[in-house]
Amino acid sequence: MRISVIGTGYLGATHAAGMAELGFEVVGVDTDAAKIRSLARGEVPFFEPGLPGLLRTHVESGRLRFTTDLAEAAAFADIHFVCVGTPQGANGAANLDYLHAVIDDLVPALTRNCLIVGKSTVPVGTAAALRERIAVLTPDGITVDLAWNPEFLREGHGVHDTLHPNRLVFGTTSPGAEWALREVYAASIAEGSPVVVTNLPTAELVKVSANAFLATKISFINAMAELCELTGGDVTLLADALGHDDRIGRKFLGAGLGYGGGCLPKDVRALIARADELGSGRSVDFLHGVDAVNVRRRDRVVDETLSLLRRSGSRVNGRVAVLGAAFKPLSDDVRDSPALDVARRLHDAGAHVTVYDPQANVSARSVAPELTYAANVNAALRKADVVLHLTEWAEFADLDPTEVRRVARGSVIIDARNALDPGRWLAAGWDFRALGRVVEAPAVVSSAPARRTGTSSVSSA
Ligand code: NAD
Repeated sequence: MRISVIGTGYLGATHAAGMAELGFEVVGVDTDAAKIRSLARGEVPFFEPGLPGLLRTHVESGRLRFTTDLAEAAAFADIHFVCVGTPQGANGAANLDYLHAVIDDLVPALTRNCLIVGKSTVPVGTAAALRERIAVLTPDGITVDLAWNPEFLREGHGVHDTLHPNRLVFGTTSPGAEWALREVYAASIAEGSPVVVTNLPTAELVKVSANAFLATKISFINAMAELCELTGGDVTLLADALGHDDRIGRKFLGAGLGYGGGCLPKDVRALIARADELGSGRSVDFLHGVDAVNVRRRDRVVDETLSLLRRSGSRVNGRVAVLGAAFKPLSDDVRDSPALDVARRLHDAGAHVTVYDPQANVSARSVAPELTYAANVNAALRKADVVLHLTEWAEFADLDPTEVRRVARGSVIIDARNALDPGRWLAAGWDFRALGRVVEAPAVVSSAPARRTGTSSVSSA
């Protein structure tokens, strides 16, 4: 079986290499010529652990190649996986232009029977509309089937998730499509990955509802963080206690700066927009609240930082070290990154912001060139009045707070990810603030009560 993967971004490049690893002959197609040149050299143009080795192996073996020529893929493959972007468009709705362009260019160029498999995340009803379009465009004498196989890989774990998916969802309208997909994923199925075979709308909805659910869980705990901040509760212990209930579970109850990236924010908004189009906006009314809580966490950190800067000598133009730019660790993806959003807003307010991210400096600079980027964490921390921990890379958890105090000018840190060890920072004299909890300094007798507004803190100094 020969496979094409159309759209070789974070998802498509990983999927293409994964398909080659499973033993298929694969061609990857993209309109971005620079990306294709890089992939064809065996170089991954973004950060994804494990992918460079897999890509190089299969490019060198000849099992995996790349082209910008869609007609070449049309003549080559039995199955076309479509992995193009579906970014946020007007009014929050998904922009399907890239998807429509692929169908309009690919289908008339087909010279052999094939199955087109959508992997992009799309609003429910998209596949049914594409089926009609495909029927109109299909050349005479050729049979083209369409299936939807939503993707659940997590950036940072993409290779593992591609080769060992925790579930497979096949939205199909024919037994032939189901069996073709069973053949593609035979190794994962043999390994025990559960398969859900369903119709097209269910397959589309599985993906967006999974992301909406995860976003809801994050915003739920962040809403509780807001209440903790007002009352002196500790959201991290609250989450631990909730998580012991296995009907709830501890995962995705990490209170902090909220979700970001190329999927959750836009998928929540696209689901709201699609429900509105369907006349059923109230079905997902609660998602407005989910989105709003998420945005408010960013506001909280921006406001707190500006008030700290004003307090330390009324300098809103003081220096802020921003640790992290990617939307999460193990990724260089800065799409709708909470960290980069906070950094930009502080810069716009007049602060001198220096950003350091172990992997995302380059991608961040390409979208936020106005910010200053440091080559290493110490350079970012130098003379900082306030330190913001915004993406929870292991490198930041390993920092020596005493050493950081020597480099920085101020002694206030906001751990917006609840991922640092407060005891170490307090012991080194930091005014340690976190989201959703008052961090008590152990064995420090103080006459002043803990502050309980904004981010919470107790300074051991
Ligand atoms: P991306 O922006 O990294 O990649 C999309 C690629 O499609 C780009 O390289 C772009 O040049 C290419 N493209 C656009 N138009 C094209 C065309 N006409 N022909 C060929 N290539 C074209 O996006 P991504 O993160 O890989 O996401 C792709 C889709 O997968 C989205 O719908 C996303 O929601 C979904 N998804 C992503 C992830 C993830 O972790 N990134 C996970 C699951 C699902």
